[in-house]
Amino acid sequence: MQLTVLGCHGPYPCAGGATSGYLLQNGDESLLLDCGSGVLGRLMALQDPALLSGVLLTHLHFDHMSDMLVLRYYLESRGKTLPVYVPKEDHSPQRAQLEETNAFRVEAYPETLEMAGLRLSACPVRHPVPCRALRLTDGKKTLVYTGDSNVCETLTSFAAGADALLCDAAFLQNEWKETAPHMCARQAAELARDARVGRLYLTHLPVRHDPETLRAEAAEVFPQSVCVSPGMVIEI
Ligand SMILES: [Zn+2]
Repeated sequence: MQLTVLGCHGPYPCAGGATSGYLLQNGDESLLLDCGSGVLGRLMALQDPALLSGVLLTHLHFDHMSDMLVLRYYLESRGKTLPVYVPKEDHSPQRAQLEETNAFRVEAYPETLEMAGLRLSACPVRHPVPCRALRLTDGKKTLVYTGDSNVCETLTSFAAGADALLCDAAFLQNEWKETAPHMCARQAAELARDARVGRLYLTHLPVRHDPETLRAEAAEVFPQSVCVSPGMVIEI
């Protein structure tokens, strides 16, 4: 599996950047994980979006789905329909917008699913709107992506033993609150340590911070911590 970071900032992009979006390739097949602002153009630079096996949206906040609204136009022009997975209990206006076009076949995450030669499972996490963490495996290697989440006990078992953990880390420890929508970098590292993952990739990076500050906070707890950056390619 190969993960390419299309966008990694939140809740708005850096100059010339993009919010959440990741291309996951498995041989000739591929999936798009989230599709925030600026993601579609970066995806277009790498492959024809009509050739995706599907789109996995962790949740329907704009910084994770806004480019779906223009991906729609592209797919309509190609007469193509893509499966799009969303949390079952989401009844937002964004979901209604995705459902009003033949470009998308919107479905709720089942407990497990085979897609693009990968086995997918989804786990509810702690965010102000319904959100799922995703676990994807080819039978040998495993990626877990937290989506957006504050500290969430079930994530430790869900992420257990993953080779790579792509984890929300939108704050520094001194900014975090119990009611926050995201983890801080230190908490992401504690999750990585407790779940005994191979490597930690911090994402949902706030534009206001130097990524090195976030990485250093995480590395105090989990040395194999890095911040992702736009265009980064990760071999899982
Ligand atoms: Zn969110």
